[in-house]
Formats: sequence, C-alpha cells, structure tokens
Amino acid sequence: MSDTNTAAVDAGQSLLPTYGRFPIALVKGEGSYLWDDQGKRYLDFMSGIAVTNLGHAPRKVKEALVKQLDELWHVSNLFRIPNQEDAARLITENSCGDAVFFSNSGAEANEAAFKLARRYNQKVLNNGRYEIITFEQSFHGRTLATLTATGQEKVKEGFAPLPEGFKYIPINDIGAVEAAISDKTAAIMLEMIQAEGGILLADPQFVKELAQLCEKNSILLIVDEIQTGMGRTGKLFAYEHYGIEPDIFTLAKGLGSGFPVGAAVAKEKLREAFGPGSHGSTFGGTPIATAVVKATIEEIVGEKLPQRAAEAGEYLISELRSKLAGNSFVKEVRGLGLIVGIECAEPVASIITAAQEQGLLVITAGPNVIRLLPNLLVTNEEIDAAVAILTELLAGYHR
Ligand SMILES: *Cc1c(COP(=O)(O)O)cnc(C)c1O
Repeated sequence: MSDTNTAAVDAGQSLLPTYGRFPIALVKGEGSYLWDDQGKRYLDFMSGIAVTNLGHAPRKVKEALVKQLDELWHVSNLFRIPNQEDAARLITENSCGDAVFFSNSGAEANEAAFKLARRYNQKVLNNGRYEIITFEQSFHGRTLATLTATGQEKVKEGFAPLPEGFKYIPINDIGAVEAAISDKTAAIMLEMIQAEGGILLADPQFVKELAQLCEKNSILLIVDEIQTGMGRTGKLFAYEHYGIEPDIFTLAKGLGSGFPVGAAVAKEKLREAFGPGSHGSTFGGTPIATAVVKATIEEIVGEKLPQRAAEAGEYLISELRSKLAGNSFVKEVRGLGLIVGIECAEPVASIITAAQEQGLLVITAGPNVIRLLPNLLVTNEEIDAAVAILTELLAGYHR
C-alpha cells in the first residue's frame, strides 16, 4: 500500500494476523511493572513469556548493552567474538554442558539440537540414526522441524508435509518410551515442565528411568529449557532438580533478559559432530547479544536469583493454595519456583482479560490453566497484590 496516510487504518492492519492480541499497547517497563499508552500501570506476572526474568530494563544488563552499543554491534562469526566466548564459558561453568552454539531464538536453538543429535549419530557414530522422540502436549517452537517436534496437533494444521523422523509418546510412561525406541532413535527431547502444555511437571522417577534408558541404548537426552531455564524454577536449569544431566539442553527466553538470543548447550562428546560449515547463523551470538547474556548470567548467578525464585515461588504457591482453598472452580495450583499454574474447571480466557482490567498481567497455559511467570526479583508484596486480584476474580467463578 502506497498511501502514506495510514493512521486511519485499523490498528495492526499492516501485520499478518499471527497473534490474538489484547487491545493494550505497553510502552514502558521498569522492574515488575509495565505502563500502557494511556498511562495505566500493570503488575507484570507474565515477564514477556518467561523472558524478562530480571524484570524490565534491569540496570546492569542495560549498562552492558549500552556499553557494547558504543563499541561494536556486529561482526561475522568468521571472526573470534570475545563476548561470545565469555558468555559460553559462563554457561558451561554453571551447567553440565561443555560447548555452546548461539542462535537468535528458542526454535533455532532446538533446530541446532536436532541437527547436532542427527549429525553425531550419522557422522561420529556412523549408525544412521535420525529419529527424535518427543512427548504429547510438548511445545518446541514454530519452525517446520520444531512444530513437527511439538506434541500438539493445533500447531501443525495446514503445514504439511512435515519433516520426517519425529514421534510422540505420552509423558511419565516409561513403558511407552521402551515401546517407541528403535535402532533409528537418535534422541529423546523433553521439557522438565511442559509449560505451554499446561504447567505439567515431569515425574522424577520417570525422568530418572528415562535417563537410564537413554544411556543404556546410546540415545541422546535433550532437555528443552527454553522456558524453564535461567533460574525460573528455583535452580539455574530445571534438569538440576531431577539429578540427571542432559546430553544437550536448549535456552532462549530468559537468556537475554528481553534481547533475542538462544543457545544449544552440548556435552563434550558432541563437540566433534559440528565441524566448520556444518551449522551456522549470521546473527547467532553477536557482540551485542552475548554482552547481554554475560550480564544476565552474572546477575542471576552472582545475586543467587535461583534461590530467590525458589523462595518466592514457594510463597506464591502456598498463598494461592490457601487463598483459593474451597473455590470449586479451582482444581489445582501447581508449579516449581516461579513457573506456576492454576488449573480451573473451565476456560480461563475471560479471567485473563478481567485481571488486565484490574492491572495484573497473567497468561494462559492451555485453555483451563492460568499461568504465572513473575520476574525472579518479585517481592512478597507484589505476590500478595497479584494473589489478592486473582482470589477476588476467581471467587466470581466459584459455584
Ligand atoms: C517459547 C518456547 C520455544 C520457542 O522459542 P521461540 O524463541 O519462540 O522460537 C521452544 N520451547 C519452549 C519450551 C518454549 O517455551
């Protein structure tokens, strides 16, 4: 459209309608709060979707970003990038991983994990394995391979033909895993907490047996930590709760405090699978992105924010459980650290918009679950305020 007078055109007409957007334009953020273009303030219990784990515009990360903006924005990955090396070392020093590939998003991090798993089997072990097993209700992204890996039909409609070599099975059922693996199975990927799927926690015994089964059959275990990582669950990475070590895990959302960046983190044995020319990304791990990653991890680790998230999460869950006890509309409050779901008897979309009117931002996880993802520095007073709004709103649904 060449007409320059587009102001009168309906809001968002120039965008493809990929999102069901709320009619709110947020223009400023600080800590746990956001403001819209009308000056209304919101208490943010979404954090993007588990992205702004340090709150909005965290000071130290912002300083690192501004400093880097003055120095250098971009160089090709054909050169050494010191920030990228430092950021990778911070990740490996604080995890079970040994080598990192930086991407720009979660889906790309998972794509890198799939490619690494296949290539390790096909080029290092020379066994021709390619199949990736994932779980029903999982969510792994929106690119063709990652939507294929996602165990939900709704993300696949109209996108056929899908890439081959993916298989889904029910979670927390070790018999189903045993039945599904074959001499073609390269890897099994799971979320320790299925987030988009409804805040469903993997069973610890299942995870332990799954890891043993993978080990016994030389199948790579990949953990998608894109939503659960960076301290949110009360540990830096959710796999730490389960006493297992994935061969590969993926990060994005909280990794850059709001700056777009993702990563696939692999164990030593996988290093040789990706030689020069085997994978790449123009923008993966730029000096700017990795300056932000460095500052983010330094803050999370240095300030012991996973521990804070564990304490705040315990308080949030116990307050919700006690205030919502006896409300027949509420079926369960569950979560780990600051990834929390309130499962209700019916769809909760109207509660999300009612909460917005009361100045609280929360989101769904599947139709019937209200998902709470406050930042890791959330205060008990802010938790009290959110719980009070939700308790009052949900009282209206009690029958
Ligand atoms: C958000 C998410 C992704 C996809 O990340 P994008 O950055 O949107 O591509 C993948 N897996 C999980 C578990 C997620 O929460």
